[in-house]
Amino acid sequence: MTDELDAMNEPLDKDMIIIKSFLEHLEYTLGKDKYSATKYDRYNALAYAVRKYLVERWLDTQQAYYNTDNKRVYYISMEFLMGRTLGNSLINLGLYDDFRDAINSLGYDFEEILSEEQDAGLGNGGLGRLAACFLDSMATMSIPAYGYGIRYEYGIFRQQIVDGAQVEIPDNWLRYRNPWELDRQEHLHTVKFYGRVITTFNKDNKLVREWVDTEDVMAMAYDTPIPGYDTQTVNTLRLWSAKSSREFDLKFFNEGNYIRAVEKKMQTETISKVLYPADNVIEGKELRFKQEYFLASATVHDVLYRFKKKHTDMRLLPEKVAIQLNDTHPTLAIPELMRVLIDLENVEWEDAWAITKKTFAYTNHTILPEALEQWPVWFFEQILPRHLQIIYEINDYFMKEVRARFPDDPDRPARMSIVEEHWERKIRMAHLAIVGSHSVNGVAELHSQILRERLFKDFYEMYPERFNNKTNGITQRRWLKMANPPLAHLIDDYIGDGWVTDLYELEKLRAVAEDPEFSQRWQEVKRCNKEELAAYILKHNDIVVDPNSLFDCQVKRIHEYKRQLLNVLHIITLYNRIKENPEAEVTPRTFIFAGKAAPAYFAAKLVIRLINGVAKVVNEDPDVAGRIKVVFLANYSVSLAEQIFPASDLSEQISTAGTEASGTGNMKFALNGALTIGTLDGANIEMAEEVHRENIFIFGLTAEEVSHLKEQGYNPREYYNGNPELKKAIDMISSGFFAQGTPDLFVPLTDSLMNLGDNYMLLADYASYIACQEEVGKLFRNKNEWARLAILNCAGMGKFSSDRTIEEYAREIWGIKPMDVHPGTVNVKRL
Ligand SMILES: *Cc1c(COP(=O)(O)O)cnc(C)c1O
Repeated sequence: MTDELDAMNEPLDKDMIIIKSFLEHLEYTLGKDKYSATKYDRYNALAYAVRKYLVERWLDTQQAYYNTDNKRVYYISMEFLMGRTLGNSLINLGLYDDFRDAINSLGYDFEEILSEEQDAGLGNGGLGRLAACFLDSMATMSIPAYGYGIRYEYGIFRQQIVDGAQVEIPDNWLRYRNPWELDRQEHLHTVKFYGRVITTFNKDNKLVREWVDTEDVMAMAYDTPIPGYDTQTVNTLRLWSAKSSREFDLKFFNEGNYIRAVEKKMQTETISKVLYPADNVIEGKELRFKQEYFLASATVHDVLYRFKKKHTDMRLLPEKVAIQLNDTHPTLAIPELMRVLIDLENVEWEDAWAITKKTFAYTNHTILPEALEQWPVWFFEQILPRHLQIIYEINDYFMKEVRARFPDDPDRPARMSIVEEHWERKIRMAHLAIVGSHSVNGVAELHSQILRERLFKDFYEMYPERFNNKTNGITQRRWLKMANPPLAHLIDDYIGDGWVTDLYELEKLRAVAEDPEFSQRWQEVKRCNKEELAAYILKHNDIVVDPNSLFDCQVKRIHEYKRQLLNVLHIITLYNRIKENPEAEVTPRTFIFAGKAAPAYFAAKLVIRLINGVAKVVNEDPDVAGRIKVVFLANYSVSLAEQIFPASDLSEQISTAGTEASGTGNMKFALNGALTIGTLDGANIEMAEEVHRENIFIFGLTAEEVSHLKEQGYNPREYYNGNPELKKAIDMISSGFFAQGTPDLFVPLTDSLMNLGDNYMLLADYASYIACQEEVGKLFRNKNEWARLAILNCAGMGKFSSDRTIEEYAREIWGIKPMDVHPGTVNVKRL
């Protein structure tokens, strides 16, 4: 290494320190020299060099939290879709440029080294990514906060496309080292399963329940530092990994059954093995149930352990602790806290219940019935018998309250009960979460309204004060500053960089929306980003796309409610128009799709095959060459998203109104200068308000019209028979035109539209969508006008920073003040 150092001509001190640290890690931590080091080794060496700066601030922050004993918030989530860490850490530490220059001066390609990092894909989609954006905002605002989740050994599967179909590859992301985590062997909690409950008397002769003969699993903590931007604050993401308990092994060892003991050990460790890959749908599997309890229990014990370091009176808990449940997945934390308070801490039932309700808050993420968690009572009987007793007690208490409040409504108790009694008895986790929390929030205004007026109407009537809205947001540090440096720099040049911690600063762009020089540079940035994505597409899909064409993007999980199929109907319609009339005025477009389908979701996987089938026909047809292209990019992930958003012109947000709780992809697109075509659904509605209605392409039925039409009796065939272009597109799909030799391949898709009721009303919205797309195509021909609207869209994104969302959670739900945001820029002299 030293010869390499000698070879450099007088580097700056700062560079020298970085280079020295980098080379030392390469040599002493990884045991490599310049001959044997791989690109991946260089990434690791760089990560270790950066970690040092995180750890210093991290220790200081945690000590400060301990000393001040301010109230802390615990964000519990089964998913954290973090993506890569290195580049983001450098940006938040303010060291990105220093490290880039230093590493480049060694003759390496810094960006190439960054791209060696594997995504941490511990989530499916929006819900997991929201948790990750929240961590960034909480650290940036110096909110004493912890993320709690599961350290899955396998994250979301890697998607390959083989012959047009999705193939799932296991994501063994921990196979190589993870330089960002620190294992905390000393932070172990026992999580109990199975067993039975016995009644005994304690030393005060009081009746107590004891949960005995349990099978125990240890939860071991792994901590990842979460640095804020431009602050000394570094928070913690604590992920639990399942380890077998030593006592448990001993039983078998003592019987001389060594192999059985090892088998049992492996079995218990499966709890944290794999992330369930289904988005917005429940998998009623025992392993998933155990994962949820594993997270809930380990976290509750950890929270109480920390609380008890300073306090003995459990009634103070809500003054020191707020627990936010990210969807119902961690709701078992409610009966778990009750169990600990009553059985282990000797708190009276009523006191325990008051403490619990004041501590918890619940965020709902979906109204789709297939995603509402209900666990069979027999799961509880077998796996969590004590929790079942507690839930029944909670429900008895609650049912009395309901009857007293609504004596003239005899059906209401059954509707509101935590226990669903029909057919198979089940526990309704959302009801438990509402009853056990002081706050229930939706994630966009429309969604929260639907919770109040439909899904949780009964509960809203009983507890109106619990219900509130927290419209989702995204972190501009990752989704603009890091993902799109050319645009970030351009914005800095015109309005300064205040937007990085106060996104409302983007309003100032309105003043330059018509400035010819700004507009020109804006268009050049977009053009560059599109060329980069075009190169990516050529490399990965072997398809040549024209950067002058309109990049029309729909990237998100593949789901019927998100209506990728409606987008496909538009593509086929354009194809047919060009085929029928080669002179037709069709703005050249590149349709870009990306997204994973849940492995067991047949219809979603078929949509992927259809997109690829249409792509093959369209891309190989000389008659439409230069007009339309279709691309499906494999393995949608945070890293791929970071490449797509900056290069997009048009953002497809076309879910059936009333189905998408908020959406956050919509916000990332607009922030990066794409125009939106969308329905009045989720946060699209609020985006339309912020960017002004005339600057966004809205089409289709409203949520109210959707429910009205359903009540009247919706008949998709009327639309089919009444619209020749729609009929032709559907007939082509069902006839096998895109099926490459398997004629019936796509019939299930057209069947669901024509014969099974078209649940998501694609046919009802088709005509309006096509007409709206024509407007889009026309506008794109006027480059300056398009740019003006894109700038105004970006300017209107202030509200959609997750900083704003978190500020609202902190103030209105948690009762925690963001500490001062700017304790001075990171001190480079510490280098
Ligand atoms: C933002 C994001 C999502 C959520 O996208 P929606 O369009 O809101 O569904 C999903 N996956 C990844 C990787 C994301 O970055």
